[in-house]
Amino acid sequence: MIDMKDVYKRYPNGVTAASGIDIHIKQGEFVYVVGPSGAGKSTFIKMMYREEKPSSGTITIDGVNLATLRNAKVPLMRRKIGVVFQDFKLLQTLTVYENVAFALEVIEEHPKNIKKQVMETLDLVGLKHKARMLPTELSGGEQQRVSIARSIVNSPKVVIADEPTGNLDPDTSWEIMNIFDEINTRGTTVVMATHNKEIVNTIKHRVIAIEGGRIVRDEQRGDYGYES
Ligand code: ADP
Repeated sequence: MIDMKDVYKRYPNGVTAASGIDIHIKQGEFVYVVGPSGAGKSTFIKMMYREEKPSSGTITIDGVNLATLRNAKVPLMRRKIGVVFQDFKLLQTLTVYENVAFALEVIEEHPKNIKKQVMETLDLVGLKHKARMLPTELSGGEQQRVSIARSIVNSPKVVIADEPTGNLDPDTSWEIMNIFDEINTRGTTVVMATHNKEIVNTIKHRVIAIEGGRIVRDEQRGDYGYES
């Protein structure tokens, strides 16, 4: 599903944030990406959805090589990938429904299918009853649910999340993690950078640890392995 071969990323300021990364993630896997701040987790994640290009090496998602993908083809590739951010990135002037529908409108889904798909997805994240509300009327956890709904509404093969519980309290973080687990159980591959030690050590999945731009550990049903 996702393949990285000898991937390096050097930023223009000279920082090497990825250094010889080799990784294979199978369809349906759930992978946590852990490591200290500045280790290169976001860079690793961003290269997977082509927010950053590697300086060298190849990254293939579902058979498409992201390193050589033309910019014009990026939107097409993003249909296969849902992305969830720490700070939600919702459109503040649009309702919950419109935020999720927007993800389908940009890929020119048939209008007839949009309502059904959006309402089914809002139901899955437990927010059907708040479809008409604005993001500012929601709690942080609810906003993250909207952003998860937006990321999965077009049934992507992979959902990539960068610290999705970073702004949330512990109880809300568990609720959000349970939603990701449910999405994964339905067959979607999940790759998630996280600092949430308790969750990583409880809901067991593969753990990839990055330090200094290198993969230093890759374990099935691994532990978080850091003090904080
Ligand atoms: P993490 O997500 O683990 O905190 P990052 O991938 O954000 O790590 O950062 C890895 C290294 O790359 C850090 O030294 C960071 O300062 C640097 N870095 C990240 N993004 C950029 C950028 N756009 N330009 C230059 N350096 C960057």
